[in-house]
Amino acid sequence: MINEIAPNTINIKFSNNKSISEADYIFFYGEEGLLWKVTGDEYSIPQKKDFLDFTDKTEAIYLFSFDNTSCYLVWEKPKTKCENFVCKEIRFFRTMSRTELAWLSLLGYQLKNWYQSNRYCGNCGAATLHKTDERAIVCPNCNTVIYPLIAPAVIVAVTCSNKILLIRGQGSILGWHTLIAGYVDVGETLEETVKREVFEEVGIDVCNVRYYKNQPWPLTNSLMLGFVAEANDNQPIRIDETEILEAGWFNRGNLPAYSPNLSIGGEMIEKFEKGEL
Ligand SMILES: [Zn+2]
Repeated sequence: MINEIAPNTINIKFSNNKSISEADYIFFYGEEGLLWKVTGDEYSIPQKKDFLDFTDKTEAIYLFSFDNTSCYLVWEKPKTKCENFVCKEIRFFRTMSRTELAWLSLLGYQLKNWYQSNRYCGNCGAATLHKTDERAIVCPNCNTVIYPLIAPAVIVAVTCSNKILLIRGQGSILGWHTLIAGYVDVGETLEETVKREVFEEVGIDVCNVRYYKNQPWPLTNSLMLGFVAEANDNQPIRIDETEILEAGWFNRGNLPAYSPNLSIGGEMIEKFEKGEL
């Protein structure tokens, strides 16, 4: 999975350090996506030393550290010392060979969106401030404190002996098949979400729901919680056409093209195919 980046490390712990070193990484997300440094065929995150006009007055927000090097978000596109820089839209991560950098681009994107969408207080409308002792935004008018919101969602491998239920959703990337997934609703347990989502999307009752593992998914501010469930394949499939183009049972050894193992869904399908799920 894309977030499994060992031996590299990310430390998400907040810091209020504003002193940016020459080797620190700089994340700029513009209209055209994240700014990358290009060296031959290699893409890397630019460093402060790559820029001309970086001053103490440049507004930079500490994001996290990558292999003990600090990473900062900037709002203004800095002037680069040479031409070898290009903006790439966020989906570029799917094609990157260095998945640890792909993962960084997603994490920075989630935090960028959070800072950007909380410039004003949702309670009273006043301009907000960044707290200096933790990653939080505070309203100086009504004291509302805003933390990054993580939305739990389930993703379910529905199996029946050597068959797995796969779907192709509206907006499916490259026509890949994938697993049923959906957000946890108010008041629900995870197991209730699994049963509801599968029934809503394909009209099938599942049993023997068991937890697999989880994966943060920054593009949708989600925490994806993977489950395996069993179902009888003699139940008629009735798809929710607003979300799904097609759904069906597929035999191990004869699966259609499915999402790669960057995501937990892709990993679960791959494990099923190998007989390891
Ligand atoms: Zn307020």
